[in-house]
Amino acid sequence: MRVIIRDDDINFFTNPKLVNKIYGNCFENGVKICFGVTPLQYAIGGKLRKDIPENIPNKNFDISKNKDLCKLLKNLSLEGNEICMHGINHKIGEENIFENAGIENKFNEGINIIKKACKFKVKTYIAPFNVISDLGINFLNRKKINIACSFDNHYKDYFFPLKQFYFRNVIKNNGSKIFLSDECLFGFSLSKYKNPKICYEYAKKKFNLFYRLNKPFIIINHHWDFFDDYFMIKYWNDFISWILTKKNVQFTTFRDFA
Ligand SMILES: [Zn+2]
Repeated sequence: MRVIIRDDDINFFTNPKLVNKIYGNCFENGVKICFGVTPLQYAIGGKLRKDIPENIPNKNFDISKNKDLCKLLKNLSLEGNEICMHGINHKIGEENIFENAGIENKFNEGINIIKKACKFKVKTYIAPFNVISDLGINFLNRKKINIACSFDNHYKDYFFPLKQFYFRNVIKNNGSKIFLSDECLFGFSLSKYKNPKICYEYAKKKFNLFYRLNKPFIIINHHWDFFDDYFMIKYWNDFISWILTKKNVQFTTFRDFA
């Protein structure tokens, strides 16, 4: 059984120490992570995103300026973790960028910032808010870039072209792949249960469903949504250690998924 862990929302404001704190257990055990990097994070702090400060200028913040983070990402990619692109600036409404004129240049700008900052050639696009349109799918397909998305998206009533594939799995799409993940299992604002121990019990149940069917299991995390809480981090680590005791489990990345 193949397992992929995806962590969204790495950006200029991310503290590299927090990344190490949450994924240290994974790194030590050879468990690879797919990091969703937003190259030019826009100021959308407050209620929606606890990792981005409030009362900052309404502008984009370039990830290259966070040197310690870029150094960490570069090292992690050399160890086999994947650096994905998670939107360009993750502004509200960014899911519509593929409908805009000039998307080609904007998209390439984002790719190039990541390439320079993290020394990594992006192979996977993680859709912000887990929403992507038909145009977006076609655009990324032409570029041979994988798409990571989820049914558990931000706008429940959004027309979602992937709805026809309601089996939460991997779709081969002319050379690139579409990965549909499950809901957020850990975290205080985005998970269903919010209580660390209940998140852990629920995560094990969810895992077992996929394990029995031998279907790829894709986990979504948001490092900032752990609120640096001792128990949320502990139970997340316990969950990974528990998976590591299972037979025939292979941790992989979107890029290396075969
Ligand atoms: Zn995000």
